Amino acid sequence: MFNLVLFGPPGSGKGTQSENIVTTYNLQHISTGDLLRDEVSRHTPLGTEAKKYMDQGMLVPDEVVIGMISGKIDDMPEARGFIFDGFPRTRNQAEALDKLLEFKNTRINLVLSLEVPETDLIKRLVTRGETSGRSDDNEEVITRRIKEYYLKTQPVASYYDNQGKLEHIAGDHPIPETFKTLSKHINKYLLPVA
Ligand code: ADP
Repeated sequence: MFNLVLFGPPGSGKGTQSENIVTTYNLQHISTGDLLRDEVSRHTPLGTEAKKYMDQGMLVPDEVVIGMISGKIDDMPEARGFIFDGFPRTRNQAEALDKLLEFKNTRINLVLSLEVPETDLIKRLVTRGETSGRSDDNEEVITRRIKEYYLKTQPVASYYDNQGKLEHIAGDHPIPETFKTLSKHINKYLLPVA
C-alpha cells in the first residue's frame, strides 16, 4: 500500500490536485471536508454537531473526525492506497492516523506540502465562494480558517518532517505544473496507471 498526505492551508489546491492524483495513481481519496459536508447535508447528528464549528471556520473536534476516518479506511480493504486531503489537521489526529494505519500493517509514506502565499489563498477562496455555494467561503470565515490553520495545523508539518516524510511543493504555479512536481515525488513510490 502507498499512503499519501496532501498537506496545506485552505485554498492551496489540495482538492484539485487530489482529483488528478486519484485518476493517475488509482488511490482512494479521503477528504474530511467532503465527508463532513456530506454529513451536514444529510442532517445526521454528526453533521449537525460539525456544522457549528465549520460555519465559524474552527476545526471540528478530533474525536469526531478520527472516528469518521477510521470507518472510511475499514470500508476499503482492497485499496491500492489512500490520499488524505485535509487530514490530519492536528498533531493528535496525526498520531491517531499512525495508530490506525499501524493496525492495518501499513503507514504514511509521503507528505506533500502545498505552499501558497497568504494573499493568494484569500483571493482564491473569495473567488471560489462566488460559485462554490459553501457557506464558509466568505471573507470573515476564510480569515478564521487560515488563522486556525497556522495555529493548529502547521505544526503537523514538523511531526512528519521529523519522520523524514515531508516534501515542500510550490503551490502558486499553474495547476498542471504543480501536478508535475507532485508526480515526480509520487513516482518514486508508485507507477502511474493512467
Ligand atoms: P479547506 O481546506 O478549504 O478549509 P475543507 O473542506 O478541508 O476546506 O474543510 C472545511 C471545514 O471542515 C474546516 O474549516 C473544518 O471546520 C472542517 N474540517 C475538515 N477537515 C477537518 C479535520 N481533519 N479536523 C477538523 N476539522 C476539519
